[in-house]
Amino acid sequence: MASTILRGGHVVDPLHGPSVPRDIAVRDGRIVVAAPGETFDLDLDARGCTVMAGGIDLHTHIGGGKVNLARALMPEDHRDGSGNPIAPSVDPLRLASCGTCTPGTLATGYRYVEMGYTAAFEPAMVASNARHAHMEMGDVPVLDHGAYVMLGNDELFLQLLAEGGPACSNFAQIRDYIAWTMRATKAMGVKVVNPGGISAFKFNQRKLDVDEPHVRWQVTPRQVVQVLARALRELGVPHPLHIHGSNLGVAGNIASTLQTIDALEGLPAHLTHVQFHAYGNEGPKKFSSAALQLADAVNANPQISIDVGQIVFGQTVTASGDTMRQFAQSALGSPRKWVGADIEATAGCGVVPFRYREASYVNALQWAIGLEIFLLVKNPWQVVLTTDHPNGGPFTSYPHLIRLLMDRSFRDEQLARLHPEVVASCALGSMARELTLDEIAIMTRAAPAKLLGLTDRGRLGPGAAADIAVYRDATDREAMFRTPSWVFKDGTLVAQRGKLTATPVGGTHFVEPGFDSTIETTLRRHWRDHGSVLFDHVAIGCDELCQCNNGGRLLPAACFGATGG
Ligand SMILES: [Zn+2]
Ligand SMILES: [Zn+2]
Repeated sequence: MASTILRGGHVVDPLHGPSVPRDIAVRDGRIVVAAPGETFDLDLDARGCTVMAGGIDLHTHIGGGKVNLARALMPEDHRDGSGNPIAPSVDPLRLASCGTCTPGTLATGYRYVEMGYTAAFEPAMVASNARHAHMEMGDVPVLDHGAYVMLGNDELFLQLLAEGGPACSNFAQIRDYIAWTMRATKAMGVKVVNPGGISAFKFNQRKLDVDEPHVRWQVTPRQVVQVLARALRELGVPHPLHIHGSNLGVAGNIASTLQTIDALEGLPAHLTHVQFHAYGNEGPKKFSSAALQLADAVNANPQISIDVGQIVFGQTVTASGDTMRQFAQSALGSPRKWVGADIEATAGCGVVPFRYREASYVNALQWAIGLEIFLLVKNPWQVVLTTDHPNGGPFTSYPHLIRLLMDRSFRDEQLARLHPEVVASCALGSMARELTLDEIAIMTRAAPAKLLGLTDRGRLGPGAAADIAVYRDATDREAMFRTPSWVFKDGTLVAQRGKLTATPVGGTHFVEPGFDSTIETTLRRHWRDHGSVLFDHVAIGCDELCQCNNGGRLLPAACFGATGG
């Protein structure tokens, strides 16, 4: 592997203090301190460039059943604008895979790397479909990856929660079940989606508020969130509970979002795609921004982190585990089609194509709410930049989103094009904040690394993995972040001025929390009575994971010391 030195770049590395011009030296895939007079295979002049760690997307739907269903549902996404198949291009790497809102696995890796991203995490892995999710992510070139397994709507969890009663007398058993599921599926975290609500929908409940009992199990979303968050804390899983809250997309859902924060009782958690959960019901259209209330809650709770799930105008496809809410939105599908699916009754799945329109009051306000949240939360370490790809828009719009956040006049220009009532009524036009390069580096690499417990990523100090993006400074931040001059993955040059130069296989991040193996007696009985898969075939071993992952490296993250009994 070539050794490299990047000379004189403006290094923006928030974990190591203020940004300064300095050299970055790389040897054997790691960042090192260069010895005086030491020579390197690649000696690059990075003056006039901003140097950051590789980008990390902690919430992007890139692997598993939903993604493939979305691809199958959206053949138009794999054709050019005139409806013809993609014409052969001069770039052979672009031929192999295409698509924008539901790109193929190869296109997913290529497009991320071309923007300077080096890791991406699938947030909604169904436990019984974990092999497929890992295989699909293993087929994505270059990027390191990992996944959060969905819990909180599976029959066994809800049954155990009901049996334990309000005091959760069987908490240790539930905690063991969560740990077992994470190890069996090789997960990096746990995501709860519409806590209890996906299951309730199967019993024909069409909504489930935070303190409303599930009609079958008589447990509430509040209990589900509390027990999952506490268990992850006690297991020492670095990434706290990843929460897709109740009532996604519903006017007035800020009440549910604040109740969910309240339910956590001070435990750490990550609230995902909060733009979709920050709606008031005021004004003539009974749909208003609750960005300020959401931001106030985040500012008052330093143990809470968020990602935004910004919407971007244009065609996309929404893909979610939240069958209840996707069914409710399916009438708005554009084009007019959708898919709902289920596997083993452990979670859910809904795929609805959608076009966000500037002329739509609701869509324009959603756009403004997302940006307001970015600008109102004070501490950038609590915020991660996402579009909830592809739900708010494709990840390829990140450079555009960065410009909106860094350039007020550009933002105001865009705002002026929107539905006039939104422009007049929302607070965005009066917000002067422009995010700095340091803040962008935090929201796109340093904070996600910290929130995931990736100790050698998201930073550029000696010993860190040499995942590096070098951007030529430009006042047009969209152009700057669209096409980095150089991108390195573990020290290998993988892209240069938007052209791929190498496609190494990425690694898999996962955690291995401990548990009492007597839980397997309960699990074996449950799978025998209710499952369609032999229990002994459920867990994915490390050798198998390596095969699933195209031979990529296994990157287990350490759990921290348990904090409770
Ligand atoms: Zn979600
Ligand atoms: Zn999502």
